[in-house]
Amino acid sequence: MPNIVVLVKQVPDTYSERRLTDADHTLDRASADAVLDEINERAVEEALLIKEAQGGEVTVLSVGPERATEAIRKALSMGADKAVHVTDPALHGACLLQTTRVLAAAIGKVDGVDLVIAGNEATDGRGGAVPAMLAEVLGFPQLTHARKVTVEGSEITVTRETDTGLTHLRATLPAVVSVGEKINEPRYPSFKGIMAAKKKPVDTFTVADLGIDAGEVGLDAASTTVVEATPKPPRSAGQRVEDAGDGGTKIAEYLIGQKII
Ligand SMILES: Cc1cc2nc3c(=O)[nH]c(=O)nc-3n(C[C@H](O)[C@H](O)[C@H](O)COP(=O)(O)OP(=O)(O)OC[C@H]3O[C@@H](n4cnc5c(N)ncnc54)[C@H](O)[C@@H]3O)c2cc1C
Repeated sequence: MPNIVVLVKQVPDTYSERRLTDADHTLDRASADAVLDEINERAVEEALLIKEAQGGEVTVLSVGPERATEAIRKALSMGADKAVHVTDPALHGACLLQTTRVLAAAIGKVDGVDLVIAGNEATDGRGGAVPAMLAEVLGFPQLTHARKVTVEGSEITVTRETDTGLTHLRATLPAVVSVGEKINEPRYPSFKGIMAAKKKPVDTFTVADLGIDAGEVGLDAASTTVVEATPKPPRSAGQRVEDAGDGGTKIAEYLIGQKII
């Protein structure tokens, strides 16, 4: 019966405008609608499928502002058993290294972790690095970009889909797995699930609670700093081709002009 921890992140909604603040080039989370990262919904779903097949317990873990509680409750309403929320103003502007250290310390607060499931890439920071960095810090094997996950006793097998085909990986638990967007279709929380989530335990920690010095995290101590951020130029209207029987020629000339053909 695997004891599973799922790493979940609250991110700005894909449809709302995402921008970096002028003050310190960190993501302006306040001005955007926030959602549970879609890839993390699939990570939660995969954990629940393993639990339904093998038993065990599912804990969701998030490092994020107070507001991330909404995303945590969403994961609990899908069926996760409990949650850990690391929230601390000192974490503002945390880099990948710091986030990884904090996640590792928080996982240390969960008894007997057999499996950590994460998304392969967050839709806001897009680092695609936390699962690998976490496996390194925890000393766990890591199986990435999973398209299929199978747990049998203390063995885990993952199928990874790449451009050139399928790769099958095997490791012994405890392990870290990152899942891709095609792994499953996340369930919608039922009304019963939403109501039950309100009563499910959420342990909240500051970085000090995890034995981490607040001065070692956050923007001032970050290993990387965004020095400049220029918004993407607005898309140009494009060239309009009037087809007076010569539309094909005009398009071919345009593509040649653009060195596309
Ligand atoms: C626009 C932008 C650019 C950035 N560039 C850099 C950079 O170049 N270098 C750098 O060090 N930092 C960078 N950061 C900061 C970095 O995004 C944060 O440290 C972030 O918490 C972790 O990176 P990620 O979201 O890219 O993670 P990824 O590695 O893409 O996340 C993969 C998975 O890890 C888990 N995970 C990630 N973060 C959390 C969390 N906070 N809580 C729970 N689970 C989590 C989730 O399951 C997620 O699906 C950037 C942030 C932004 C907004």
